[in-house]
Parts: sequence; structure tokens; C-alpha cells
Amino acid sequence: MTDQVTILGATGSIGRNTLDVIFRHRERFQVWGLSAQSRVEKLAGIAVESGAKVVSIGAGRTREFRCALNGQQTDIRVVEGEAGLKHLAEMPESEVVVTGIVGAAGLVPTLSAIRAGKKVLIANKEPLVMMGPEIMREAALSGATVIPLDSEHNAVLQCLPVSFRDESLICPTNPSTSRLEEHGIEKVILTASGGPFLYFPTEELDNVTPEQAAAHPKWNMGKKISIDSATMMNKGLELIEACALFSIEPSRVEIVVHPQSIVHSLVEYSDGSLLAQMASPDMRIPIVNALGYPDRISSGSERLDVGQLGVLEFKEPDERHFPCLRLAREVAETGGTAPVILNAANEIAVDAFCNGRIRFTQISEFVDRTLQILPVLIRRDLETVLEVDLKTRRVTKDLIMSAPGTA
Ligand code: NDP
Ligand code: MG
Repeated sequence: MTDQVTILGATGSIGRNTLDVIFRHRERFQVWGLSAQSRVEKLAGIAVESGAKVVSIGAGRTREFRCALNGQQTDIRVVEGEAGLKHLAEMPESEVVVTGIVGAAGLVPTLSAIRAGKKVLIANKEPLVMMGPEIMREAALSGATVIPLDSEHNAVLQCLPVSFRDESLICPTNPSTSRLEEHGIEKVILTASGGPFLYFPTEELDNVTPEQAAAHPKWNMGKKISIDSATMMNKGLELIEACALFSIEPSRVEIVVHPQSIVHSLVEYSDGSLLAQMASPDMRIPIVNALGYPDRISSGSERLDVGQLGVLEFKEPDERHFPCLRLAREVAETGGTAPVILNAANEIAVDAFCNGRIRFTQISEFVDRTLQILPVLIRRDLETVLEVDLKTRRVTKDLIMSAPGTA
């Protein structure tokens, strides 16, 4: 039997890697739906190549998409805007939804797929940062399966006992009850490459360009996550993501810098054992792991030659060099809407940096200042979260506009 797969954010880096894996296993997976925001031509090409039945595109772009199809695949259904995306995420014909949208824009479609009881393969980490525990609770209610695609979280999943995995993610029953102790799990250790500026003098970070920041030494990813990797906000977001996925307190999530990006994360057990997952830095590996779960199927990735690996380094991150890490840890401890504020302020600051309006080091400064201004609410239902997200964006934009030397 073939699984019908929907890829949200199909034109991005996660989308490209997911399609690569699906095309390697055409007997097992078929593309049902695809989404993009503005890259209409690219979406049309992918839709024709994959034989997708439905696509979702940004509001007002249906005609443009139909033109881009150039007479091919004319029976494809096109939906648009936020309502179209939500509809695509919950369509009954597709059992598997891959979330590859970037940023908070993925929150509503992720929730929709979860509420519809799908097997949801989550790459889009920002929704888990914004309301992860609520998403996991919704999954427990609807019977949805959650499998992380983020390489670190997928690595953790692979290192966890099967029974814990099944209870907490694959078929969540009561995700608010942490069963870590019962399984002898002490902590989760997330590895970080350290990004392009690991060895840069801290005082020179002021002058780095968006191109330098986006040039990740190990992974080929979309622009926003590449910049987040350079500030290490990505690891901060991943800390919050891990707390939600595995029902674990922030104090039990450790971050270590591992520049080789071979060990993708570890789980430490009470007997002193550490289980690690190792693989080439290739997103097709976690994607195929999640798509095929529980079967192991081929990813097409280059194999690691362990004899040639040489030295693998691990060290503590320097929070003075990477202040976003400290901010994210504080926010994880605070809870409530603090992660929503962190995430939205970061999205605005990263965008301003990419557009040349602020310097690299100002990303963490504006996130910090926004966090100091906005009150943290305990309530975290969807309506509240969307309101806080919107308000935060306004506040950070105003701060940037009114700062000396910014446009
Ligand atoms: P990309 O920027 O490469 O792709 C983003 C996708 O989202 C595109 O399809 C884009 O459409 C779509 N999109 C952008 N804005 C909107 C919007 N407002 N509404 C709907 N769709 C939108 O991102 P990545 O693939 O790198 O990352 C996707 C997510 O996965 C992120 O949350 C990231 O943190 C996470 N992730 C990515 C990894 C990677 O290797 N890339 C690894 C681990 C996690 P369009 O092309 O039309 O703009
Ligand atoms: Mg990651």
C-alpha cells in the first residue's frame, strides 16, 4: 500500500529533501498535496514532476500558478491563502503531512494536521516553540502521530527506548506526564555545529554580512534557519522544541558544540550510558527515518566511513559569543508566552538583518529588548498565541525603526 503524503513548504530545503526520498520509494509513497507561498514556477515544476493532486499557494496567486503549469497537469486542484493551506493540511485523502514551512506561518496548518489525526513529520520547529505542549496534547486527543524531522530530535528519538517513544510521540497518550525516570533517562544532549562564526573573534561579529551568516559550514538549508544557526538561536529554539516533544524540563537538556556534525544528539541514562546517533549531515536521513518508521529504508545519503572520521570534538557553548542561547534557555524556564515572544522577535530581527537594517549582533539585542518590554501570559491557547505573536512583531519592528543608525 502506498502512503499519500502532503508536503507543506514543498519549495524549500525540507521540501526538496522530502521529495528526493519519496522519489526513491515510489512504490511506498505518493505525493498527494504540496504547498508554497510565492515561488509559483518552482511549485508548478514540482507538482508536475510528482503528480500531486492538490496544491496550496499564497493568496491571489492561483492564476499565476495555472499559467506556470503551461498546459500540464490541468486537473490539479488549487487552493490558496491561509484557509487553503489549512484545508490542505487536514484533507482526509492524505495520511502523512510533512511540515516544512518556515516560521510561525506554519502554526495553524501544523495544528490542523495534528487535529485531523495525521502522521505529522515536523521539521517546522517554530510552532513547537510557540505552543509545543498544547500541540502534543492535541495529538494525544486526536490520535495523531508526531515524528520529529529536525536532525537532533530525530536522533534523540532513535536513542530513546521504544516503549517511551511509542508513549510520548508515536502514539501519545498522556504527554504531560514525563516518564523519563521510569525509563532511566537522565538527560538529552543536543549537539550544535556552532555555525559559520564558531571560531570568529566575538568583537568582529558586528561586521559580518548576511551572506557570511547564511553560509553554514555543514548543512544546506533555507535562509532563516541558516542565520539562526549562525546566532545559535536555532539551538535555543531546539531546546524548547525538545522540552515539548519529550516532556522534559529545560534543565535536563544540555547543548554541546560538535563542529563535525556527525553525532546528531545523545541520550544519557542513569547507569552512565550515553546513546548517540551518528550519520552524515544529510537531512534525507531523518526524513527517511520518519517516513519509513518503524522500517529502515534507504535515504540515498553518503555512508560514514568510521575509520576515516578522525577526531570528533565536543565542547560547551560560549554564551557570551552566542547570547541567543542564554535568552532561549531563560525563556524555556519562564514558559507561558515567553517562547512566543522570543520566536516572533527573532523572526523580525533576522529579517531586518537580512535586509541590511540591523547588524548581526543586534539580532540578540532586539530579541532581548522585546522580551523585557512585553508581559508574559500564562494562557497559551491559539487565539492568545496569535495575538502575542502579532503584537511582538509590532514591538520589535518599532524598536528597530526607532534605534539610532537603523532605517
Ligand atoms: P526554506 O526557506 O527553504 O523553505 C520554506 C518553505 O516555506 C517554502 O516552501 C516557502 O514557500 C514556505 N513559506 C515561506 N513563508 C510562508 C508563509 N508565510 N506561508 C506559507 N508558506 C510559507 O526553509 P527550510 O526548508 O530550510 O526550513 C523549513 C522549516 O524546517 C523551518 O522551520 C526550519 O527551522 C526547519 N528545519 C529545516 C532544516 C533544513 O535542513 N532546512 C533542518 C531542520 C529543521 P516559497 O518557496 O514560496 O517562499
Ligand atoms: Mg536541527
